[in-house]
Amino acid sequence: MRGPFRPRRAEDTKVYTGCMPHPDLEFPEAEGPVEAPALVDRLGRPLRDLRISVTDRCNFRCQYCMPKEVFGPNFAFLPRSEIMTFEEITRIARLFAERGVKKLRLTGGEPTLRAKIPTLVEMLREIPDVDIAMTTNGTMLKTLAEPLQRAGLDRVTVSLDSLDDAIFRSMNDMDFPVAMVLEGIDAAAAVGLPVKINAVVRRGVNDYTLLDLARHFRGTPHIVRFIEFMDVGSTNGWKMDEVLPAAELVKQIDAAFPLEPVDANYTGEVAQRYRYRDGQGEIGFITSVTQPFCGTCTRARLSAEGSVYTCLFASEAGADLRAAMRAGASDEDLGALIDATWHARADRYSELRSASTPGTRPHVEMSYIGG
Ligand code: SAM
Ligand code: SF4
Ligand code: SF4
Repeated sequence: MRGPFRPRRAEDTKVYTGCMPHPDLEFPEAEGPVEAPALVDRLGRPLRDLRISVTDRCNFRCQYCMPKEVFGPNFAFLPRSEIMTFEEITRIARLFAERGVKKLRLTGGEPTLRAKIPTLVEMLREIPDVDIAMTTNGTMLKTLAEPLQRAGLDRVTVSLDSLDDAIFRSMNDMDFPVAMVLEGIDAAAAVGLPVKINAVVRRGVNDYTLLDLARHFRGTPHIVRFIEFMDVGSTNGWKMDEVLPAAELVKQIDAAFPLEPVDANYTGEVAQRYRYRDGQGEIGFITSVTQPFCGTCTRARLSAEGSVYTCLFASEAGADLRAAMRAGASDEDLGALIDATWHARADRYSELRSASTPGTRPHVEMSYIGG
């Protein structure tokens, strides 16, 4: 499942140390005091977000992510010794923040299954100037929302694919009821955490229940984002036929509740935003398949065992920061590894997808790399 293990060391990579621009890119001559140029990749994209997978385990078996047939009782999840400690995660996150990362997102697997997760949030909170978010299936939020908020979490995204209980139970494949996720969402809102809702859209599976989902959260501060079903990993049986283009869904929702587009909040925002014309809130569409946004992709991903990936669709392991740390690397060594990895980045899988046969190339599983 995982790509070949290919740790890079600073000494065997052509490293442009610090925050120097890649030589392929031209920067205009600055006048007056010169700020260090941002760390940019080969396509000129800065490093702004870090998604941190804190565990590869999950209490759901969503068929589009961790199908039971593959992630069954005998599946070998990472042993504890291979998972990064909180100290290791915090050290790496700080180095990323020093290189321009403004947003940290805890994910997985299911991040709330990691023991003492609020402690990690507390440790990350010490890093100046970063927004800390979490993506979760919401199952543990009833008890964890309050400690997470107290620890310094800024916001939460809860995945909820349908309000139809039977469909939701079948999509999570653990017979888990919708009502308990809704309770988790309420618990998060009650402690003041801004909440977004993510729904993966599969044609013929939950597409005809999505208007209800939109209706339910209309008039609340929670923004629903509909995500096109992606060919991540190699196990979810992805087929283009099951992708409902966001443009079709926009039309459906617009027919019931008229919409108007809203400008992106910032460069690199992945969702196309719309608001209800009657002022009842906002929804978003993540069009990774039909309208890719690689050109503004500023995300790096850290796997639960400490490898850096520069694309959700990576097919081989990136720099192994955990091995480097455990071998005694200094912050400078680790920083050079991060710099070299980002400088070498030319990923734009989704843009190239249409040019090849989608779903045929092996990718790292999303539960491992962090969605
Ligand atoms: N367990 C947490 C959760 O479900 O929110 C965090 C990890 S999950 C891998 C992160 C996000 O990826 C979720 O919103 C999930 O719905 C989305 N996801 C997983 N597999 C996907 C796929 N094949 N296509 C689109 N989104 C997917
Ligand atoms: Fe678990 Fe999230 Fe993947 Fe569903 S999408 S199986 S909840 S990691
Ligand atoms: Fe970013 Fe890779 Fe997705 Fe393109 S395919 S948007 S480069 S993660």
